[in-house]
Amino acid sequence: ANHPFILHRFPLEQKNRSLQAWDAADEYLLDHITSEYPNAQSVLILNDSFGALCCATSIIYAKEQVLPSLFFVSDSFVSKAACQHNLIENQLPSEHVTFLDSLANLPTEIDLVLIKIPKNAGFLQYQLSLLSHLPADIPVIAAGKAKEIHTSTLKSFNHFLSEPKTSLAVKKSRLIFSNTTAKPVASKFPASWALENTDFTLFNHANVFSRDSLDIGARFFLNYLPAGKKPLKVIDLGCGNGVIGLQVLNRMPNSKVTFVDESAMAVASAQQNVSHNLPTRLTDCQFIHNDCLTDFAPNSADLVLCNPPFHQAQAITDHIAWQMFLQAKHTLRNGGELRIIGNRHLDYQDKLQRLFGNCKVLGNNKKFTVLSVIKRS
Ligand code: SAM
Repeated sequence: ANHPFILHRFPLEQKNRSLQAWDAADEYLLDHITSEYPNAQSVLILNDSFGALCCATSIIYAKEQVLPSLFFVSDSFVSKAACQHNLIENQLPSEHVTFLDSLANLPTEIDLVLIKIPKNAGFLQYQLSLLSHLPADIPVIAAGKAKEIHTSTLKSFNHFLSEPKTSLAVKKSRLIFSNTTAKPVASKFPASWALENTDFTLFNHANVFSRDSLDIGARFFLNYLPAGKKPLKVIDLGCGNGVIGLQVLNRMPNSKVTFVDESAMAVASAQQNVSHNLPTRLTDCQFIHNDCLTDFAPNSADLVLCNPPFHQAQAITDHIAWQMFLQAKHTLRNGGELRIIGNRHLDYQDKLQRLFGNCKVLGNNKKFTVLSVIKRS
């Protein structure tokens, strides 16, 4: 555990670089497994934010140059990219790491499970339900901020695994100890609900933004979507369950829509929602798991629609929105449009005006504003 690491938080250009790529819960978890489970060979790691657990366990469990088998399970494209980057930065190979997304089946030949407790309780339940399908008696050690571990969190462990025990709090973090019991319990996801004013049903995997109802920002944005017969190439950037792109397909019979999100569950939900509600339009769609529009071809889109996120894990920041605006500019053709909805207090208008040299307000209510900018050069 005393091995020095270099760990970067992603994205690298982020202004506030003082935000660390690991936390006290990671340290607590690593100290614990170093003393209590010194011999694991096959480790399942869930929700490692930037690869701290993956890098450290690669070293802790290396035996005479043989690295352990690690399974990195995450919903997040950015976390996976950060982990791959941090392995390289620490001169570690990555052949011993299998990267799985959050909807993948879990491997069964495992001797230790490590979980960073996600903020989203439903997502934790989904992951525990996957673990309930594993063979019995595999130790499961979860780590998180003490203030985010509630009675309901422990109840979830009890429901899907064995009765949990908790550690003392150290540096405001706590561990939860449990075991698999080989008694499979189904999860209640995906959640589904009827989309107001339509015949559509929206399916939402556990970690999708606004999983249980239509987001109020999205509801307002739906009033400002284009319609008509133009054959536009549209990108639904940060698509979540795909509600925006789905309505574009519905209102624009000749449009093509690319759905992009960094959450694997979002991309899968968007795909399910098109295939369930507008199956004949599936051939007009692409579903891409990606960090914003990284590696998209320049001048390749007519319209980018976006309801941007404004936090990353616990850190409230607008750097992702800014990355989305910059990359939208790169991806749009000349004359193409970026249309966004934002909380009024975030003042995207000023930022977009500076970036595009123009910015039109399409609509406002008390909370939100819908803005349109045109790429002119
Ligand atoms: N479009 C959906 C709606 O209006 O209900 C979801 C909007 S939600 C405010 C923002 C979305 O951006 C989330 O689904 C989130 O997963 C996604 N997101 C966050 N960071 C991202 C990134 N780096 N690249 C792509 N999508 C990202």
